[in-house]
Amino acid sequence: MAIKILVIEDEERIGRLVAAYLAREGFSVDVMDDGERALDYLGTHAPDLIILDLMLPRVSGEEICRYVRAQGETPIIMLTAKADEDAKVLGLELGADDYVTKPFSPRELTARVKSLLRRTHRLGLEPFQSADGSLVIDWEKHRVWLRDAAVNLTPTEFKLLAILAKSPGRAFSRQELADRIFGLEYDGYEDSIYVHVKNLRQKLEAHSSERRIATVYGIGYRWEDEVNGSV
Ligand code: CA
Repeated sequence: MAIKILVIEDEERIGRLVAAYLAREGFSVDVMDDGERALDYLGTHAPDLIILDLMLPRVSGEEICRYVRAQGETPIIMLTAKADEDAKVLGLELGADDYVTKPFSPRELTARVKSLLRRTHRLGLEPFQSADGSLVIDWEKHRVWLRDAAVNLTPTEFKLLAILAKSPGRAFSRQELADRIFGLEYDGYEDSIYVHVKNLRQKLEAHSSERRIATVYGIGYRWEDEVNGSV
């Protein structure tokens, strides 16, 4: 089942070019060239990702962004001709997930699309299972099982667990974890990692007495896949 991408762009040449690049990557692509038609389309379709031009005839990109956000979490990449900071802040405030300034290279946009799909778990939807089989992460259901017991996690704990468990044995610094969970634009979040790890450990250890998230002294943390792994 192909991943569906909606491109909302009134400049025909750009819409066609973007659609061609995305189609070549195996995505199913629809292009809408005005805001009102796009809203009609969204009333009956559920794309996996939306590429949204800010300046559109009839209904603006801002309004469409608000509409989509009121409906759910469909990832949005906003396109805009304006390179200024205001447009960027506006786009992100409205709930766009990423932002590309015109002129852009279709190749870069395609890379951003894939990265955002991965980040939002719309690519690579197969549930993750640890090598020892004890941990299962279901990206679609956003659920985690440890030794067949469901573990209820906050979105931050879920991301933290996913990063650690997907690279068993690798040490992650608090800074790297903070960057990957909260994004590079946030500073000073590494202190909060300590608290999230503590809470995540408590939840995991309620189901299994093993300590799976090991402290790597002077560095940060690592996930231990094997039972009775060195801590
Ligand atoms: Ca436009």
